[in-house]
Amino acid sequence: MASRPYFRFDIEQLNDLVSKSRDDLKNLTLIQDELKHRNRPKARELKKEVDTLIGALSAESTKPTDNTINQYTPLQVTPDRMVIECTQCKTANFVSPLESVVQHLSCSNCKVAYEAVYKHGILRTQFQALPQINQSNSAAKWITIAVIALIALILILK
Ligand SMILES: [Zn+2]
Repeated sequence: MASRPYFRFDIEQLNDLVSKSRDDLKNLTLIQDELKHRNRPKARELKKEVDTLIGALSAESTKPTDNTINQYTPLQVTPDRMVIECTQCKTANFVSPLESVVQHLSCSNCKVAYEAVYKHGILRTQFQALPQINQSNSAAKWITIAVIALIALILILK
């Protein structure tokens, strides 16, 4: 049996004690226990009041606990590989996400070059910019193609 520190208190004294212990959950619980042993109408009334006070205090004290439970911890899961759609030919290319490493890759289908960087769970890709409508650039490109074609032709004819 739990001890009854307020065994000798009369209902008036308990009433006073409740008024003084409105914020004291521990003491209110002791008074509540004491009142459980009393059947007088005044005691029952006081117990109801104490029950309400304890209920309110308990609700307040559990609030911070709820916040702790609700705290969201993001899971850091890095997939083995990710899919990148080629901006040129729409082919799906698989990329291994390497944290903070710039990967120089090319499309498996159209060979367009692109860079992929995986950082903070996001895979960013930078596809080679489409050739700009620039006289010198396109001229240089055509010369390169002509040279390659010439070499190929030489190799074929050999
Ligand atoms: Zn492609």
